[in-house]
Amino acid sequence: MNKPDWLTLQAPDAKALDGMKRLLDASRLHTVCEDADCPNIGECFAGKTCTFMILGNVCTRNCRFCAIVHGRPSAVDSGEPQAVASAARHLGLRHVVVTSVTRDDLADGGAGHFAATIRAVHDEMPEATVEVLIPDFLGNIDSLHQVIDAEPDVINHNVETVPRIYPSIRPQALYSRSLALLHGIREFGSGILSKSGFMLGLGETNGEVIEVMEDLRAVHCDILTLGQYLSPSPVHHPVVEYIHPDTFKTLEKIGYDMGFIEVNAGPLVRSSYHADRIFSRIGANNEKGCQ
Ligand code: SF4
Repeated sequence: MNKPDWLTLQAPDAKALDGMKRLLDASRLHTVCEDADCPNIGECFAGKTCTFMILGNVCTRNCRFCAIVHGRPSAVDSGEPQAVASAARHLGLRHVVVTSVTRDDLADGGAGHFAATIRAVHDEMPEATVEVLIPDFLGNIDSLHQVIDAEPDVINHNVETVPRIYPSIRPQALYSRSLALLHGIREFGSGILSKSGFMLGLGETNGEVIEVMEDLRAVHCDILTLGQYLSPSPVHHPVVEYIHPDTFKTLEKIGYDMGFIEVNAGPLVRSSYHADRIFSRIGANNEKGCQ
């Protein structure tokens, strides 16, 4: 299938890419922007923003939609939380977004390292807000508590697709486990916004999309992201359909009608795309008492 026009991107500015890469390499940091081949890297790096990826760049799971390398990860770098905080300060980020590879090999799934990173950013930049995109920690509620106790502003956990497609693209994950984790954010994370998202174009039906949105509202998810799935390589799951931008607009409206505080839907939307703008919009609405 040829990519439609609306997925054509301008070539990224080489100087901006290079500058960011040098900073990240010097700090020995990874980003999901680079490792997951995000199509927005040109725009985000030019705007001096990125999503830090902690706990290494090798994932213990093997999802068929994801470009990140899987295998046996290296030891956790105890200096990484401070390196993230220092890089975030250097970039002048107001909203720091941190994700990780999935680390099923660690007893806490890496939750303690997430907590250390959140605390390092709070210490280094008390005025900045922090958003974490966490794995499911194999359903370990103690791990979720560790992250919540470090007081991030937003906890994101993506359901990625509709439950029927889980076995073929997320074989080591469970839809119900992801929903339970999102429910736990609302139950235990007082004042923390919860966020989730999924990809379209993997063969899901319109009805299934609406059902997942309803499931997310049922666990009090506040922020929703919807984007087009793009296959990273011929060995990954193929794109089944390119979804028209008008469909994303319709889903965005449906999402707001369902009660999501913010919906970011569009072909190139990724879970961290414009995360800072979305967070400041919510803050502005809160000040106006609109929420
Ligand atoms: S959308 Fe997110 S993952 Fe993609 S380049 Fe921007 S910050 Fe990185």
